[in-house]
Amino acid sequence: MEFHIERAKVLPKANLWDFLEGLRRVSPLIAPVRRGGRVAFSEINDISDVTIDYTRTVLPPKKFLVPYRRVRFTYSTEDLSFSSTFKARQQIIFGIHSCDLHGISILDSIYLKENPDPRYLDVRKKTVLIGISCMPDDFCFCLSTGTAFPDGANWDLFLTDIGADYFVSIGSPKGDELIIELKELFRDIEREDLELYKRSTKKKKEAFRNRKLPDLERISQLIELEYESPVWEEEARRCLSCGTCTNVCPTCFCYTSVDVPDFEGKTVKRVEFTTSCQYPYYSLVAGGHYFKPTRTARFRHRYYHKFVGYPYQIEKFGCVGCGRCSAECPAEISMVETLRRLRGEDEEELREAAEQTFTDRPF
Ligand code: SF4
Ligand code: SF4
Repeated sequence: MEFHIERAKVLPKANLWDFLEGLRRVSPLIAPVRRGGRVAFSEINDISDVTIDYTRTVLPPKKFLVPYRRVRFTYSTEDLSFSSTFKARQQIIFGIHSCDLHGISILDSIYLKENPDPRYLDVRKKTVLIGISCMPDDFCFCLSTGTAFPDGANWDLFLTDIGADYFVSIGSPKGDELIIELKELFRDIEREDLELYKRSTKKKKEAFRNRKLPDLERISQLIELEYESPVWEEEARRCLSCGTCTNVCPTCFCYTSVDVPDFEGKTVKRVEFTTSCQYPYYSLVAGGHYFKPTRTARFRHRYYHKFVGYPYQIEKFGCVGCGRCSAECPAEISMVETLRRLRGEDEEELREAAEQTFTDRPF
């Protein structure tokens, strides 16, 4: 998304809570909320629940666009008529970090590029996305995936912390409308704001200095060439096939469905729910064909899809470097380390970490 000076405003931090109240008057508001030691995107009833000081939520805001469980339609077994009661509501999602905005843009490409999904389209049309700048922790590698900043993603407003104020970039007509609606809270940009804005970008880049980030230059080709590398098996040995990595991922979208009949069997609901390519029987199909019977095959498939499949499909990586899959993996498998091992970096040290095999599991 190109930045134009006339498409930005300044929001003094002192006005942030009035801004959030204003948003909530416009439509239901979803924002990050602290729960115990973790942070989750939740619907806001009380503005004081909102937290802006966080690195990553456990689940991405994707859950408000594509619920983890949803009824696609209902049909009658008597006359085979179908009905769907789904209707998207207006919603504003506030406080989304740059990587997650890129994650949503990837979902937009998946769901809307060819054969648009009418339900997703309805939800997206009625959703306003407001991003906010952030600083990385040890799991983040968004600088490698090109998603550390919101440029190139789909969003409506983006707030960059410039000290006493937020530099508010306007990314769409929906964003413009909100600024007009709440105009008394904003002021025009001055030269000093621009300097602070440039400095904040530099500060985020510098936060990655001295970090061992994966080099993703020609990574698609590397993964294809290293298809038979022992690294896959060595890393996969620790994997529990639990599916956590895909369930927390902002770009994973695989689902399955079951038909759930009512008590009399007259009406049946087609229920879709999220599944995972890491589950042992995910790739078992009719006739007993089993495409990914081993943990190694499933483990490699996730990387292959993110860095070879997605670029082929949508000309972007399917990974936005949010670090969730590594931060939440119960076996402490690190995507960054696996990618670095494939390049042959720090081989000895990283192999030793991977060799901490827990047990020999049948799958
Ligand atoms: S979260 Fe970790 S242990 Fe679970 S399936 Fe993914 S890589 Fe394997
Ligand atoms: S693969 Fe891992 S780091 Fe990449 S977007 Fe998904 S959860 Fe985030």
